[in-house]
Amino acid sequence: MIPFMHQARACILLFLSLATLPAHGIMIDLRLGDMSGSQQNSFVQAADYWGNVLIGYRSNIVITDPIIINADIEYIDGVNGVLGSAGPTWIYSDVNGFTLTAEGDMRFDSSDIASLESNNMFDDVILHEMAHVLGLGTLWQANNVYVPGSGQYTGAYALAQWQIEFNQPGATFVPVELDGGQGTAGGHWNENLGGGGATGIVDLNGNDIAFELMTGWLNSPSYISDTTLMSFADIGYQVAPIPLPAAGYLLFSALAGLSIFKKRLPHHSE
Ligand SMILES: [Zn+2]
Repeated sequence: MIPFMHQARACILLFLSLATLPAHGIMIDLRLGDMSGSQQNSFVQAADYWGNVLIGYRSNIVITDPIIINADIEYIDGVNGVLGSAGPTWIYSDVNGFTLTAEGDMRFDSSDIASLESNNMFDDVILHEMAHVLGLGTLWQANNVYVPGSGQYTGAYALAQWQIEFNQPGATFVPVELDGGQGTAGGHWNENLGGGGATGIVDLNGNDIAFELMTGWLNSPSYISDTTLMSFADIGYQVAPIPLPAAGYLLFSALAGLSIFKKRLPHHSE
C-alpha cells in the first residue's frame, strides 16, 4: 500500500503547454513539464477521463476558460517519503454558491516514479491526484460538504449514492479518513489505517471501499465509485452519466450571485 501524500502548493514553474483537451465536458488545459512520452500519456489520459466524466457545471454556472493543470515530475525528497503534491492553486469562489477550481498543480517526486511505473500504479496515482486538483477532497470544506475533523461527508449527491452503492441505507454521512496525517486526513474516503485489509464495506459488485481510487492509500486494482463521481456534483460539476435531479438546479439557481470571483488559494494541506 502506498500512502498518497500531497499538499497544495503555490509555486509557479515554467511548463510546456502540451494540449488543451476539449473532451466532451469541462476543458482541461494540461501543461506538462519535462517527462517521458508514456508519462505524458498518463496525464493526458487522466485529463481525458475526468474531462469526459465531468460534463460541465451545475445550475447557471458559466465558465468558459479551461481548467489549467500544471504537472511536473521533479526531485522532491528522494525515494519514499513524499510521493507528490496536488491541489487547486486558483479558485473561483462563490459561483452560485460553489467554489470551483480555476487552476491547479500536480507535482511528483522523480525518485518515486520508477517504482510506481513498474508496479503499474502510475496511472492510478495521476487519476487520484488530478481529482484533488479538480476539488475532490480539497474543496469539500469550501463547498460546505465537510467540516474538518468531523470524519463525516454530508454532500447530498454523494451521500445518496453511498447509501445505494455501498448498501448503507441508514447512513447520514459518508465516512471520511481521519488518519494518515496532513494531506491524507480529511480529503479521502475512509478505509483502514495504512490501507491494509478489507473494510467489509462493499459496493453492489462486491468491491471493497479499500480499493476505491479516492481513499487515502492506494490499493490495486483500484476502481472509481459512483459515490466519488457524485461528490463532484456536490461541489458544482455536472456529472455523466448519472443525471442530477431537477430540484438541485432550482435550489442552486435561486441563490443568485452570478459574478465570478477568482482568487488565489492560500497554501493549504489537502
Ligand atoms: Zn489523495
